[in-house]
Amino acid sequence: MVVAAILIVAAGTAAQSFKPGSYVPDELLVRFALPADNVVSKAAVRSAGGQLGERLGNTEWQRVRLSPGVMVESALKELSRSNAVLSVQPNFYYRLLATPNDAQFSNTGLYGLTKIAAPSAWDLSTGSSAVVVADIDTGLKYTHEDIAGNAWINPGEIAGNGVDDDANGFVDDIYGADFYYNDSNPADEHGHGTHTAGTIGAMGNNLLGVVGVNWSVKIMAIKIYDSDGYGTTSAMLVNAYSYIKQMKDRGINIRVTNNSYGGCDEACSYDQATKDGIDALGNAGILNVFAAGNDNSNNDAVPSYPVSYTSPSILGVASSTNTDARSGFSNYGVQTVDLAAPGSGIYSTTWATNSSYGTMSGTSMATPHVAGAAALLSAYNPALSVPSLKATLMNTVDVLAGWTSFVKTGGRLNIDSALRNQTVCNFMIGSGSMTVPTKGGIFTVNLTPGTNCDYTVKSNSSWIRVTSEPELSGNGSVTFRVRFNPVISRTGTISIGGQDLTIIQKRN
Ligand code: CA
Repeated sequence: MVVAAILIVAAGTAAQSFKPGSYVPDELLVRFALPADNVVSKAAVRSAGGQLGERLGNTEWQRVRLSPGVMVESALKELSRSNAVLSVQPNFYYRLLATPNDAQFSNTGLYGLTKIAAPSAWDLSTGSSAVVVADIDTGLKYTHEDIAGNAWINPGEIAGNGVDDDANGFVDDIYGADFYYNDSNPADEHGHGTHTAGTIGAMGNNLLGVVGVNWSVKIMAIKIYDSDGYGTTSAMLVNAYSYIKQMKDRGINIRVTNNSYGGCDEACSYDQATKDGIDALGNAGILNVFAAGNDNSNNDAVPSYPVSYTSPSILGVASSTNTDARSGFSNYGVQTVDLAAPGSGIYSTTWATNSSYGTMSGTSMATPHVAGAAALLSAYNPALSVPSLKATLMNTVDVLAGWTSFVKTGGRLNIDSALRNQTVCNFMIGSGSMTVPTKGGIFTVNLTPGTNCDYTVKSNSSWIRVTSEPELSGNGSVTFRVRFNPVISRTGTISIGGQDLTIIQKRN
């Protein structure tokens, strides 16, 4: 059956089509221009046939619930016309990116670690319990014999006392949190999350089971799926990202997120709410590693979100086999998928018992090899910024003939080479400060940041407005406008790739 896609224009975005079944049928996500409880905002929601729901985490996005019989498309059209609304979109669904178990034998299922040269990298570092990876998945079997010692424990929370000790909005969130059922227990009831966690960091040198890319690391369990592995939505993701951002802001050393989910063959729609959340994580110093998808399709031609966003903090991963071929299911794209990692027939921890292990395949399994590598690199050199982590992992792949037409770097992850040949992305040339005159004007900073050093630019001061593209890659320049200043002298900053450029405005 062929179902025609619906064409919708969302506020502030180009025309988009949303596939039927790709979003929650009676909800929208909205960012208001005015406070959500303002009378104009409320009237707009009411006239679109909806009711204002809750705010998503600490973000500016708000859920709107539609009354029975109100169609998502018509309510979205109505709200997009309102001056009270900055942005409105459906609440999209996202799928896990593992394929059904294939015929790989489990005794060869740890080949991935050899392929990415983990054994020689372990001569330099086996990881650190100071590095936290947020694994956004089906949850975590945190009692597993090969996981328990590497499960993150919230240092601000006292287990089981029924009190939100650290006042982060979650009672007894010991191991992370559950955004599917909205509670504080991210126990895995499916298996996919425990499998990705084992690849990132099953405990090493403990005489048990398997070993992860990191022998030692802390895995924060962020649950976004139920036991069937279905039904996560934009709203759940925004809440999950907001929790991670909040914990990062509180000083938990989260350096990496693992994201083995996507949406393309069901949705393929640009999702501003989730992109905002991912960008906020990137700006907070977190690298976001995403699966490319399992549709054997070209993401350059048909984007697959979230991996296809241009966000500088996203690292996109395709799946390779034990012979370094492209896995038959793996998506690819020389512009939008960054590198390959082993994802076919991967043996890791599973959930049924505390000593369960098993084999799974998918870009879901490739992604944690890269997330794990980013964590190991962070452990080895804690000073590396998000752009430096990303550029290092990309610039040190084993370039392979078969991969040059499939991924941006033309190769497969090599963590040993990454540790030994780091790229430090330096955006600030010279002193990192710039003096501008009182009369203001437009100014340019030239950058030579290095290969694959992706960066965002943002102003931290209201009198400085960045006018060039906020997302750039490679060599380039940043242009910004400074307002006239009747006062003698003031100082502000713009942030380029996480480094601050100080702007000093004074009479000259
Ligand atoms: Ca808490």
